[in-house]
Amino acid sequence: AAKAAGKSAYRTCTPALRESAVSRAELIADLRRAVDEDQLHLEFQPIVDLGTGAVRSAEALVRWRHPRLGMLPPAKFLPLAEETGLILPIDRWVIHEACRAAVTWRGRVPEATVAVNIAAAHLRRPDLIATVTAATSAVGLAPRALTLELTESALIEGTEAVLERLHQLRELGIKIAIDDFGTGYSSLSYLHRIPATELKIDRSFVARLGTDDRAYATVQMVTRLAGAFDLAVVAEGVETERQHDAVTAIGCPRGQGYLYGRPDSPATVGQNRA
Ligand code: C2E
Ligand code: MG
Ligand code: MG
Ligand code: MG
Repeated sequence: AAKAAGKSAYRTCTPALRESAVSRAELIADLRRAVDEDQLHLEFQPIVDLGTGAVRSAEALVRWRHPRLGMLPPAKFLPLAEETGLILPIDRWVIHEACRAAVTWRGRVPEATVAVNIAAAHLRRPDLIATVTAATSAVGLAPRALTLELTESALIEGTEAVLERLHQLRELGIKIAIDDFGTGYSSLSYLHRIPATELKIDRSFVARLGTDDRAYATVQMVTRLAGAFDLAVVAEGVETERQHDAVTAIGCPRGQGYLYGRPDSPATVGQNRA
């Protein structure tokens, strides 16, 4: 009976597997065309001063308008992009497009910076500096108006060459944020080595603020650490008034989350919301 069940499971399973393999290959082919055919677009999410509500920055978040599947969030295609190396042209496009858009909304919020997520693969490329400086100079964006967001895992595998590149970026005035802080190997020794300017406290801690004392202690500790290291600090994923009150009470100076604004078109950055 077990054998029979196994056999029928095998039979019903195979077409599904084959189907998903095909759609994966198709998706890779589609992704290859996405940049050239202008199917990617960026949304921007505000990062605000928690005291005044003023917009301090906006993070560029990529979406893919797939011709048949509709709008895809990054989680649906970035892993594939990373596996295939297609993340490099995508991130290059994102950097250029984010700088171009930032120039338009910086008219409304003059000192605001634009934050761009950078994949680990890109950090390993010597041409990252050239890509970034080409983007800022093409549109006349001051390098200090650009923040590159890197994850702890991307940084931890960083070689001396990566470290040197980060220092060069800093010398150009470009800012460096550590994204999703607390979810990777938040080691104090690398905080000493990496020339970061900002920590972004992962939203998993912010989400548990009202219910988990350890999450509260974590947000408090990271906020203090950032203060002591003279780093900017942002609480990610603030969704409720209660979370807002908690991060404010802790003394975290900046926040990002649905409570302050969802990712939206560049035209909405710095516009007064109802
Ligand atoms: P991230 O850099 O940590 O970006 C924040 C993510 O949290 C975004 O998801 C944003 O929409 C979401 N978010 C913001 N506020 C809230 C909130 O209050 N509640 C909840 N539940 N979520 C919130 P998104 O746009 O789906 O992006 C996911 C991840 O994909 C990003 O995480 C980033 O790691 C990556 N990503 C996005 N755009 C790019 C890109 O252009 N290049 C690269 N390499 N990675 C990107
Ligand atoms: Mg980010
Ligand atoms: Mg994050
Ligand atoms: Mg994240």
